[in-house]
Amino acid sequence: MKKYIFVTGGVCSSLGKGIAAASIGCLLEHRGMRVRMIKIDPYINVDAGTMSPYQHGEVYVTDDGAETDLDLGNYARFTSSPLSRANSITTGQIYQEVIQKEREGRYLGRTVQVIPHITDRIKQRIWAVGEEPDVDVTIVEIGGTVGDIESIPFLEACRQMIHEYGKKNVLAVHLTLIPEVFGNELKTKPTQHSVKELREIGIQPDILLCRAPRPLSEDLRRKIALFTNVEYEAVISAHDIKTTIYEIPLIYQQQNLDIIALQKLELPIRDLDMEDWRRIVQAFVESTDIVRIGVVGKYIDLHDSYKSVDEALYHGGFANGVKVQLTKIDSEKLEKVRNLDEVFEGLHGILVPGGFGQRGILGMIKAAKWAREHRVPYFGICLGLQIMVIEFARSVLKLEDADSTEFSPSCKNPVVVLLEEQLDVKNYGGTMRLGRWDTQLKPGSRLIEIYGTDVIHERHRHRYEVSNRYRQQLEDAGMRVVGTTLDGTLVEIMQWEKHPWGIGVQFHPEFQSKPTQAHPLFRSFIRACKEYRDVRAGEQIPEREP
Ligand code: GLN
Repeated sequence: MKKYIFVTGGVCSSLGKGIAAASIGCLLEHRGMRVRMIKIDPYINVDAGTMSPYQHGEVYVTDDGAETDLDLGNYARFTSSPLSRANSITTGQIYQEVIQKEREGRYLGRTVQVIPHITDRIKQRIWAVGEEPDVDVTIVEIGGTVGDIESIPFLEACRQMIHEYGKKNVLAVHLTLIPEVFGNELKTKPTQHSVKELREIGIQPDILLCRAPRPLSEDLRRKIALFTNVEYEAVISAHDIKTTIYEIPLIYQQQNLDIIALQKLELPIRDLDMEDWRRIVQAFVESTDIVRIGVVGKYIDLHDSYKSVDEALYHGGFANGVKVQLTKIDSEKLEKVRNLDEVFEGLHGILVPGGFGQRGILGMIKAAKWAREHRVPYFGICLGLQIMVIEFARSVLKLEDADSTEFSPSCKNPVVVLLEEQLDVKNYGGTMRLGRWDTQLKPGSRLIEIYGTDVIHERHRHRYEVSNRYRQQLEDAGMRVVGTTLDGTLVEIMQWEKHPWGIGVQFHPEFQSKPTQAHPLFRSFIRACKEYRDVRAGEQIPEREP
């Protein structure tokens, strides 16, 4: 029998449900289980691709080109669950699928309703992942907070699965908040109410993860257990940590969360070796060697907007034995700054991540120019590559009005243009150049050294592309194409010649980075930033030919 774990959240949002679900997956994998992860988002958008990063944080892209919730990124970093379109479910998709079937006449004569048609479709989507032969446990995270109108059909599907499969096959884990009020007192009442609400829907949680500012005392855990009808051992203290999120699986493990879950699911308890994760946390705690990176973008107010980029930079730090500190720089504000030295002083590298629309572009161009001229390591991701090209065309090729047609449709020198395949696209949803594509690295280039191979596979999400009309001019002036599609028609990677580390990529390497295995580009970038920091005087840094 296949096993399922549902993870719900109570009291309020932003308690870290995604990382909690991912940490459970991480622990179970370390106990030899084959784990799959699913995220359910109760919004009506079909996917996250049409939402603003300000509201919803980054859009995570899978190999098969699904634009999903950023929690899939957490799953990718904490587990080895394969992630595709199948692992991200939204209300929009479920309704679209049911309505499509209704139009095809496949419910002829019947009234189509939330129960059973919507709930059945939800269960089918979960089974499509969880019933595969090579899976032991599927962890299903239900987005939102218990009590929201939107998540009711998903919670009902969860209740039905517990009823149909039995408690020993389906576990309910609830993440809740124990807030601190005046006089340092921790309060359990919101948790009691949240569990009550869950029980009204028909779900009795088996495990509680209690988010609190400090570890819960035994007394408090006993009190919570008594009021919520959850066993004392299964009331887990999910207290704030001072180190890195990668310590969370270890904190759960110290309280035997893995053993409790496996016992409840009647699964074998195999030996556990968390050495790889322990090493990461230890390296983080012990390292006093700091590398400072400036991330220049326009979505900096919400700290999850560049989640995978931030994490991949930290991974690059782990791989180089340094602690990466991030400074988020608002590109729009940068537009008005006269003395850039003041802003960038003390940074050892600059990264311009992906983005859409014209706002803040000038600030990013200024950042790229500063990094190029001051020989500071620069990493351009997607829009960050296009920025590099615009800046170089303006400053070095002296094409003053060089631009992307995304920002200036009628500019005279469109160095970044709409992809040909995008010309006829009318719908916004899911129509970009998306997902995994192969890239041929230039023979003998530094990129081959970085990746250790000559053909790479990376994920994309863009509509615009470096124009082939300007390729030769850019190359002749010292901005080299060092990676293309296999047929050579599209630019995938460019590099500044005569610069210690100035690389721009049209894809999103951050999605494939793991704490235990930093992505090669991030590893190499942080190493270059560390070198820059150590040498400091720009002139002494060795030039690297592409
Ligand atoms: N807006 C640019 C494009 O569509 C860059 C996209 C991105 O950075 N993901 O090509």
